[in-house]
Amino acid sequence: MELNCSIQNYEWGRKGSDSIIANLMKSSNPDFIINESLPYAELWMGTHPNGPSLLKGKNIFLEEYVRDNNHVLGKVLIDKYNGKIPFLLKVESVRKALSIQVHPSKEQAEMLHQSSPNIYKDDNHKPELAVALSKFETLCGFRPISEIKNYLRSIPELCFVIGHNEISHMFSSSESNFLDILKNCFINLMSQETEIVAEQLKKLIKRLSDLDETTRQSLKADLLERLYSDYPDDVGCFCIYLFNHVTLQPGEAMYIAANEPHAYLSGDCIECMSCSDNVVRAGLTPKLKDVETLISILSYTCEPASAKLFKPIKEDECTQIFKPPVQDFAVAKIVIPPRKSYDLIPRSTASIMIVISGNIEISDSQIFNKGSALFLSAEESISIKTTSCSEPVMIFQAFANV
Ligand SMILES: [Zn+2]
Repeated sequence: MELNCSIQNYEWGRKGSDSIIANLMKSSNPDFIINESLPYAELWMGTHPNGPSLLKGKNIFLEEYVRDNNHVLGKVLIDKYNGKIPFLLKVESVRKALSIQVHPSKEQAEMLHQSSPNIYKDDNHKPELAVALSKFETLCGFRPISEIKNYLRSIPELCFVIGHNEISHMFSSSESNFLDILKNCFINLMSQETEIVAEQLKKLIKRLSDLDETTRQSLKADLLERLYSDYPDDVGCFCIYLFNHVTLQPGEAMYIAANEPHAYLSGDCIECMSCSDNVVRAGLTPKLKDVETLISILSYTCEPASAKLFKPIKEDECTQIFKPPVQDFAVAKIVIPPRKSYDLIPRSTASIMIVISGNIEISDSQIFNKGSALFLSAEESISIKTTSCSEPVMIFQAFANV
């Protein structure tokens, strides 16, 4: 069953035909008109109330359809998830940073929703998996201790904002209490007065502009300048020295567990998450910043950038599966060579898939162009034929990880 999915026009999205989302929509629906000045940031496939999918050609929400036809979900979703689809599949197209954030655990989400229902409207957790479709640039998790210390040694402006007391503790500390000190440093940084942050950022930007290229590179000058021009005076700019700067190549993936700080900076990706929109933001955003909550739920684990890569498992010659350590979702990436047909592996729960490249023909000779999103019932098996003699087909499919 083909879906009609919601587009989110968040300000940070790539605009017009620069956005993969606009191109996918145009390809799957010839009537779609691309507005070149509009950002096409996210495409949502699922039942979340902030962007619910409809069955194409009928005026029925997917949510209503699965409620009235519960058997299509499979036993686990009926028994364990109250007959709901527990995941949300997205395509994202990022032009500029979309806020430093963490997602609460299930328990924390319930508490936040109870204490501040106006801010935290959602009581679900939101672990997420991102698979890069183009070069996809992110900040993710705290850097290893040695890297953070190196930056502090060469960036007095950052030390000033954190405060010299904490900095001298950090350099005299043993490894065992480093994480407590890092936590204090981060609290100081994120709660520093705006004027002091603005003044030190300005000073650092000025100083970097006078340095030679090698030093500029070692201090990530280009990235800092880019973030500074999008979010001037925002304390999040300093976070590039504390968080790993991870760039995924197409096909590479990253899994972000609860409480892990991250920010997406640029590029296109497929993202899958628990059906939730629960975000605690603290920088690189014009939206509400809740530094206090962010600090209290953040995980202070220091790991190298390479530890952030999440590897898929090969299921057969066409399918790889990303199975994160949560039951709410798994994602299969299916690549079918030109002029081949392939029987999709049936899944024990309902699934949602999107064609990202190539056009396909399905069992009953229906043609679906790139950009088409389909809902499949549990155990549904379909045979897919590629229609082009030169372009391979690439499909992403989300289902519950059970
Ligand atoms: Zn996130």
